[in-house]
Amino acid sequence: MSHRILLLGAPGAGKGTQSKRLADEYGVEHVTTGDALRANKDMETEYGTPRSFMEAGDLVPDPVVNEIVEAALADADGFVLDGYPRNLEQAEFLSEITDLDAVVFLDVDDEVLVDRLTGRRVCDECGANYHVDFQPPAEAGVCDECGGELIQREDDTEETARERLQVFYDNTEPVIEHFRDEGDLVEVDGEATPDEVFARIGDVLAE
Ligand code: AMP
Repeated sequence: MSHRILLLGAPGAGKGTQSKRLADEYGVEHVTTGDALRANKDMETEYGTPRSFMEAGDLVPDPVVNEIVEAALADADGFVLDGYPRNLEQAEFLSEITDLDAVVFLDVDDEVLVDRLTGRRVCDECGANYHVDFQPPAEAGVCDECGGELIQREDDTEETARERLQVFYDNTEPVIEHFRDEGDLVEVDGEATPDEVFARIGDVLAE
């Protein structure tokens, strides 16, 4: 099968971690709007910069993210898409530019999501992910992989994390319902270790 895979889930469900692994495993592109936007926070667009939307936990306007995804997919043979589409308009745009082979929903309970988000730390240098309780680095504040400094994302404070979850329920749940109605959605219980969740995704993709 070709590998055009969409990973859906709330903020903190593990999309980033699992998408990276899947893209490595299948040798395809990892396309993530969150990372692309973080790298271009101060890019001028006709709507202003992405920064103000991101710091408030709101969605960046569709034309900005649609353009990022269209350019990334045009260059990709296969891909794992992560963080997009986040509303029905984006889902509609996506269906116009590509066909998907698999849509996986990572299901994780709300309170678990808040704990994961507020405890998350990321390496400022290489982007590796940690969690202060669930996956601490060997030395506090220092990346095991590259020795870089571990920082908290500005939108991982409790207030903004809860706002992002609300935005997810208002805007992205309808996208999940849409794929479920189409019969294209496979669900994976995301409340387990990264290795276990990766194995579960591998199993459903093999079916
Ligand atoms: P993420 O890293 O996926 O949690 O995304 C971080 C932030 O980037 C989100 O809270 C949004 O502000 C913005 N963002 C990422 N992907 C999208 C998208 N598909 N549509 C709109 N905004 C997005």
